[in-house]
Amino acid sequence: MRLGIALAVALALPLAACSSKVEVTPATEGVTDAMLVNGVEGEWLTYGGDYGEQRFSPLDQITADNVGELGLAWSVDLDTARGQEATPLVHDGVMYITTAWSKVKAYDAATGAVKWEYDPEVPRETLVRACCDAVNRGVSLYGNNVFVATLDGRLVALDQQTGKEVWSQVTVPNQEDYTITGAPRVANGLVYIGSGGAEYKARGYIAAFDHATGKEVWRFHTVPGNPADGFESDAMEKAAETWAGEWWELGGGGTVWDSITYDPKTNLVLFGTGNAEPWNPGANGRLGKEGQDDNLYTSSIVAVHADTGEYAWHFQETPEDRWDYDSNAQITITDMEIDGEMRHVALHAPKNGYFYVLDVETGKFLNAGSFAMQNWTLGIDPETGKPQINPEARYEQTGKPWIGLPGAGGAHSWQPMSYSPVTGLVYIPANLAAFPYMADEDWEASDIGFQTGIDSAAVAMPADEAVQKAALDATTGALIAWDPVKQEAAWTVPYKAPWNGGTLATAGNLVFQGDAEGNFNAYSADAGKKLWSFPAQSGVMAAPMTYSINGEQYVAVLVGWGGVWDVATGILAHKGRATENISRLLVFKLGASGKLADLPASAERVLDPPPFTGTEELALTGAGTYGRYCSVCHGDAAVAGGLNPDLRHSATLGDADTFKMIVIDGALSPPEGGGNGMVSFQKALKPEDVEGIRQYLIKRANEDLALGSTK
Ligand code: CA
Repeated sequence: MRLGIALAVALALPLAACSSKVEVTPATEGVTDAMLVNGVEGEWLTYGGDYGEQRFSPLDQITADNVGELGLAWSVDLDTARGQEATPLVHDGVMYITTAWSKVKAYDAATGAVKWEYDPEVPRETLVRACCDAVNRGVSLYGNNVFVATLDGRLVALDQQTGKEVWSQVTVPNQEDYTITGAPRVANGLVYIGSGGAEYKARGYIAAFDHATGKEVWRFHTVPGNPADGFESDAMEKAAETWAGEWWELGGGGTVWDSITYDPKTNLVLFGTGNAEPWNPGANGRLGKEGQDDNLYTSSIVAVHADTGEYAWHFQETPEDRWDYDSNAQITITDMEIDGEMRHVALHAPKNGYFYVLDVETGKFLNAGSFAMQNWTLGIDPETGKPQINPEARYEQTGKPWIGLPGAGGAHSWQPMSYSPVTGLVYIPANLAAFPYMADEDWEASDIGFQTGIDSAAVAMPADEAVQKAALDATTGALIAWDPVKQEAAWTVPYKAPWNGGTLATAGNLVFQGDAEGNFNAYSADAGKKLWSFPAQSGVMAAPMTYSINGEQYVAVLVGWGGVWDVATGILAHKGRATENISRLLVFKLGASGKLADLPASAERVLDPPPFTGTEELALTGAGTYGRYCSVCHGDAAVAGGLNPDLRHSATLGDADTFKMIVIDGALSPPEGGGNGMVSFQKALKPEDVEGIRQYLIKRANEDLALGSTK
């Protein structure tokens, strides 16, 4: 045994002993375990509606027959214009939501009267290490508290009555490489949360905290650390055999940024893990020889014992993930008959385009089917579920660009699906969108920004109308009603654009879903017939929920398009988006007739760049620098989706000194500069790099102007 390992083992022993001794007292009043396990009629107590995360409501006052009478009961405009991803919770007549920047708000669920508001004051510069906007997906309720995880990595307990902080605990290993956007889950007195960051330098994990004190009870890492420091468990030692090189230097990835499902029947916690880091495996040599190159436990579903965090099983959906096919999408648990036998199953539709059915207790693969077009495999082994990877998709080995389907946005991402035990169908908000992958041969890790090893400049959208139109036409979305037993679609509703809202299924034979074009819709659950639609005036990504108060059923949804699709995909988001972001909460009931105020006329912005006076060489270098450091927020090919500034319009383009003051000196750093998250990039960029970016932006703006584009 090497000294490092001996030391680590010696250090780990008292910790392990200590963690098994932590006495956690479950809640005996307020929201209890019995309420979470059995549900409370008319309430929506946890992110996924119930512990199985089915997002199915037995409420049946609103039905396929009367949904045409649904109207706006109340609405609230929110104090942010960033993406809204949260599902509201309702308990004891009070609705709890989160909005962008991890703010929490409580309303009277019948009237919309504000009960309290809480702002964790997340530093705005946190945005530079958040891949996907300042979003948050919701709170959890337990005992008399509300739990929220903040973008900068805190888990905070608030008093349900007053919104006052009860405790606050930093849960991330450091506040440089990790962010949190997911909703915590609670069971048996433990609050579960992971983090994002697999595009930065994060080592994935899920951790459990005592609901009463915030004290950490256990932590399960999803990827092994440096072997020289010793392994925390056998699971980590086994996982290390599937990695090569010095993977730990970049953290390894595998972050638990969304799905966490507690299963009372087995007392297991199932969660999904993100991509290995960096995307391009050639950049740090993280893949070993064949048979030792899975990079466990990335892009997998993992199950651990709920009380101790000990490994139970894993099922890897995407081995050697180099496409950002995170397995983080929601995990739904139910019982259903498969091949003539009743099984306790986990249903999963991750970014990679396959729909999986697994046994919850053992993780055994039961079946799979492809719910969206895919080209990264040549098929799946029907016994093991292991994919046969298309050799052409290994872009770092071919040295050629690879147009991957699904793309990095995923065939299905965090937008929640729902499962109706009445129809036996799963309602999936699906994306049909490709992504060009190309290895950056000269890539090296840097101190700030995205760490993917991808040559984003080489595959940026060209200033060519025909190419752009073809890409836009091929980029669509769909609501897919998937039969998990037959592994085929029962029906499909096509959408013009990808990145539509999560879904809600109800016993009224209804499926509710908002769309990217700004409508909130109801379909019949059995046939997919559109029965009702409300103009929300802004795109919807979040999932709706439903509840009942005083005998009246309500349906609520958060409105406000954004997230990674908006901030990173540039032209596709910019030209595909139908609406500006208006962040608001809409609540409907039968017979209501509320109206939204008319939309203000948006001022037309016209491209007006200074003439391009640089050299092609400098602009080309600038394209590379922009692609690596700027495009994740300001958009591919210098076209912003709508939330973050479109730099082709920047008033500073004509002034090299001012431009440098912002990018290098941090003149727009929050809070002094009044900026909204634009920190200094001095750690990574030199003045000549910044001048290259400026010249590239001027060139891009002039290209679009020459094409006749006005904005
Ligand atoms: Ca990812």
